[in-house]
Amino acid sequence: MAEILVDLDAVRHNVARLREVVAPAQLMVVVKADGYGHGMVAVARAAREAGADWLAVATPDEAVALRGAGDEGPLLCWLATPDQDYRPAVRFGVTLTAYDVAQLGRIVAAGATDVQLKVDTGLSRGGSTLASWAGLVSQARDLAVSVSGVWSHLACSDEPEHPANDAQEQAFREALATAEELGVDPGLRHLANSAAALLRPGSRFDAVRVGIATYGLTPAPQVASSADLGLRPAMTVRTELALVKPIVAGAGVSYGHTFVADRPMEVAVVPLGYGDGVPRHASSRAEVLVRGSRCPVLGRVCMDQLVVDVTGLGARAGDEVVLFGPGDAGEPLAQDWAEACGTISYEIVTRIGGTRVDRAYRGVR
Ligand SMILES: *Cc1c(COP(=O)(O)O)cnc(C)c1O
Repeated sequence: MAEILVDLDAVRHNVARLREVVAPAQLMVVVKADGYGHGMVAVARAAREAGADWLAVATPDEAVALRGAGDEGPLLCWLATPDQDYRPAVRFGVTLTAYDVAQLGRIVAAGATDVQLKVDTGLSRGGSTLASWAGLVSQARDLAVSVSGVWSHLACSDEPEHPANDAQEQAFREALATAEELGVDPGLRHLANSAAALLRPGSRFDAVRVGIATYGLTPAPQVASSADLGLRPAMTVRTELALVKPIVAGAGVSYGHTFVADRPMEVAVVPLGYGDGVPRHASSRAEVLVRGSRCPVLGRVCMDQLVVDVTGLGARAGDEVVLFGPGDAGEPLAQDWAEACGTISYEIVTRIGGTRVDRAYRGVR
């Protein structure tokens, strides 16, 4: 009934475009969280076809699932709890990331012959503190495990002029220097995510880890649109109207009657709701496309459905309704939904879907 249509040609286009922009840095395409809701396996395949040098996911379990689907080639992951069994990932040749000496010990005990080390240069999320960094590097040297990469992650890259970017780049350079002083070649050095890869050339080092831009969405909407960046949104979310009917002036619409018709209107029921990942924050804020027109969401988004204004469009049950897509037919972008909901496009595309929504692909090779 409802469908997420993923355009793999758009993914390939975006990967090719990003390679061109970041060269000679290598391109690592991030396909965590089921490829930001686009389907990890299909996106991974398209990204490899388009020449991605590396793929990356968050967890070893995601990495193992990707290998199980036949993926080969360089693959990095970076998030695990102390109870993680690293052996399957090691057996599949996945490159793991260590944040501290205890985790490094567990990774080496699982048989890993190489590892990447993450240093926290100012996000205060994963990675070794700067104070512990020399100890982590020394441990890697002493365990005789090959360090194939050293990396970090930026906090404010969607604001390219933010002073935190300079501070983190500087801290990263110092961490690299520390590794070299301790006799450890840092291997692949990487810091930039999509926003930095596109907007801060000096942050590219040897590779960039690009997620959102792969999917054709702008990582920095205040700075540039996806079109400005030469990217093409890959996801379209669409379904059919379940019902169209008139309502009278004064009728309240949906739970709580937060919208009340001030005139006779025609409304349509869209069979998607927060149970399918449509944010409830879209209530009375987002728009959908029906018959070439933008139609406002009226009142609250419910668990399974939402109501839109189709007054004067001659809409009928069964008509296509597009929540968001690449914008070619005038439909909203995921970025428009993000702005309507007070969030980022990452959350819009990653949360949409579930057991009631099919995922289909265009451009499968
Ligand atoms: C998710 C993630 C990325 C990708 O970020 P985008 O902004 O989507 O490009 C890169 N690095 C790390 C560590 C991440 O968690």
